[in-house]
Amino acid sequence: MATNENAITHDRTATSKLSVVIPVYQEGSHIRSSIGVIEAVLTDNKILYEFILVDDGSRDNTWQELKILAQTNKNITAIRLSRNFGKESALCAGLEYADGDMILVMDSDLQHPPSLIPEMVTAWREEGYDVIEGIKNTRGRENPIYKACAKFFYYIIYKTSDIDLGQASDYKLMDRKVVEAWKEMQERAIFFRGMSAWLGFERKQIGFDVAKRVNGSTKWSLFRLVRLAANAITSYTSVPLHCITVLGILMFIGTIVLGVQTLIMKFSGRAMDGFTTVILLQLLIGSSIMISLGMIGIYLTKIYKEVKARPRYLISKCIKGGDKKC
Ligand code: UDP
Ligand code: MG
Repeated sequence: MATNENAITHDRTATSKLSVVIPVYQEGSHIRSSIGVIEAVLTDNKILYEFILVDDGSRDNTWQELKILAQTNKNITAIRLSRNFGKESALCAGLEYADGDMILVMDSDLQHPPSLIPEMVTAWREEGYDVIEGIKNTRGRENPIYKACAKFFYYIIYKTSDIDLGQASDYKLMDRKVVEAWKEMQERAIFFRGMSAWLGFERKQIGFDVAKRVNGSTKWSLFRLVRLAANAITSYTSVPLHCITVLGILMFIGTIVLGVQTLIMKFSGRAMDGFTTVILLQLLIGSSIMISLGMIGIYLTKIYKEVKARPRYLISKCIKGGDKKC
């Protein structure tokens, strides 16, 4: 392990380059000013950088804006996906293009405060950490139902897969070797936060307060969040499948108890009494079977998608700042 580590560890000096990977979807109204804010922090702190901006198939003027940025700034690469593949896929595209010694992943709406970047870079450069992750002090959103759901979701992941996502966010600085290891993970269903937690490496957590969105609105509808949660849980654990088996065993035990009771009732001449029990049992068994089948279906769909092995994203355009090729 040590030799492998040496082979891919870069010198952590002041001339190390930072790649900033940002997925961008329908953020045309403010993307140029947001990049300006982040860039100012980087130049003020004398950090060498490149931006990899991935337009996740936006339908507004995002691509026009990214094009202008890439054409006028040699440190910016703009990539456009062929359609909206989702944030995780856009991130994946950006990570594959980034070639810095350290790679920072952040959102385009300034909810991840750029003022944290110098601290993250110092933790990488001087303290030797491989992953520096932003941890949400506050969740930013006011909605208590959303907060409770997020808490429950993290709890399930933690209890079933031992991966503690806590108040994790997608605001993360990673060493080159971590990103190289991440690229080895070939699954189609990407859940960035979980995958990077699975990787391990030396980690440091830095708390931050989620800022207000600079403009526009969140792209996560309830449906998209539920889909992401189901994907994440089924990616990291097969516990739901085992639960089905346990449920089956419990119901079998119940069957024996009720079977004995039914026989006793029959022989004691009170056989007609069981109407309520029969109805309740039918409902219970029916719904359990449906839920179980659904659960198996989710895993089956996952296997189906993985077997198809389609690309995780498709790039339709790419512009690299300066005269370099994409
Ligand atoms: N995003 C993306 N593709 C999508 C949805 C979102 O690339 O399909 C980007 C979006 O532009 C932003 C980041 O992912 O940079 C986070 O999205 P958002 O702010 O909507 O999420 P929230 O902060 O509300 O969790
Ligand atoms: Mg946001």
